[in-house]
Amino acid sequence: MSRVQRITVLGATGSIGLSTLDVIARHPDRYETFALSGYSRLDELLALCLKHAPVFAVVPDEAAAATLRAGLDAGGSRTEVLTGERGLCAVAADPQVDAVMAAIVGAAGLRPTLAAVQAGKKVLLANKEALVMSGALFMEAVRRNNAVLLPIDSEHNAIFQCLPGDYARGLDRVGVRRILLTASGGPFRQTPSAELERVTPEQACAHPNWSMGRKISVDSASMMNKGLELIEACWLFDAPPSRVEVVVHPQSVIHSLVDYVDGSVLAQLGNPDMRTPIANALAWPERIDSGVPPLDLFAIARLDFEAPDERRFPCLRLAREAAEAGNSAPAVLNAANEIAVDAFLRGRIRFPEIASMIGQVLEREPVVALDSLDAVFAADQRARELAGEWLTRHGR
Ligand code: NDP
Ligand code: MG
Repeated sequence: MSRVQRITVLGATGSIGLSTLDVIARHPDRYETFALSGYSRLDELLALCLKHAPVFAVVPDEAAAATLRAGLDAGGSRTEVLTGERGLCAVAADPQVDAVMAAIVGAAGLRPTLAAVQAGKKVLLANKEALVMSGALFMEAVRRNNAVLLPIDSEHNAIFQCLPGDYARGLDRVGVRRILLTASGGPFRQTPSAELERVTPEQACAHPNWSMGRKISVDSASMMNKGLELIEACWLFDAPPSRVEVVVHPQSVIHSLVDYVDGSVLAQLGNPDMRTPIANALAWPERIDSGVPPLDLFAIARLDFEAPDERRFPCLRLAREAAEAGNSAPAVLNAANEIAVDAFLRGRIRFPEIASMIGQVLEREPVVALDSLDAVFAADQRARELAGEWLTRHGR
């Protein structure tokens, strides 16, 4: 490789952002940070700027910018501070940038991620919600702008590694029968339905295998995360939902599998540490050290598999139905889920009500075609309003 690659990390203060910076810091000969963004954790963002010395830092507004600038000045840093979505889009699309890690959580990540795509960047996609909301437009933008889209989600990164290089020709042409998407089952895999009524946000966020942000942790507990990932897989690998099967695998050692027509099934294994898919995508098609210790199969000793229970985890069924309905349904599902998860984390609704609320929003919102980004955000907004009405109707 000829020169040091300049990386923008959107969502640098989050779980994926920090893992990305850990990998980058191991390879100063290959990578340097161009821009880092944060939202509420300004102290962390300041510390990251002082450590990694990016050209730009991005915060939500002028008040946050003033706070960050004061800290940067005191630390003798020359990092320049930008604000808001415009700032995020600017550092995602800057001509000096080689790759963008899209690790903002939720719909807030869509425009900046698309800005990176439209600028034809190498885009490392962690922000699955962006693809779920606007899959058709997003993939079309990838093709039109010759962007290189590399999946960070561990399952999708595993599938990417198990597929041949020319899989974009079509799954049938490369002999793929099914994609097997593994799921840990989350912290409530064995919790009886009746007890799900009483689980707390802290229990939901205590994932058995992965350490992640709070929103995705709740998604993992409800299995909506697997539902979003099912939709994500359909877009990334041009697969109909019927070709993607969810397999619960509690150890999270196999990160997903590809089943070929000749009976071969290829799997990618590794310790559950996001630095592996991050390093894989950063260096692709090369391989670099990620800091993840080697897999100890003797310590793991066994790998288990079971079918998902869509009765206890109706979010998975709702997501599959939304995937099949296509058009605006996944955007509506995603927006209703964001409101539901936020309400659950604030103690306003009980855990099973996440699925009830999303189901009712999906029933009330007609499925429409999404032919523009405005249409995507309009569907997102309507779903948020319906979810808000659900909360009011239920006195929350
Ligand atoms: P975190 O909550 O840990 O981090 C989210 C990041 O987004 C933080 O930097 C946060 O800033 C920033 N952010 C939050 N809200 C906004 C907003 N409105 N505008 C701009 N920035 C915002 O989440 P994770 O790192 O766990 O997840 C990030 C994405 O990656 C999600 O889409 C998730 O689904 C996906 N993902 C995560 C995995 C994981 O292991 N964590 C695995 C696979 C996918 P601040 O913290 O300063 O408020
Ligand atoms: Mg995942």
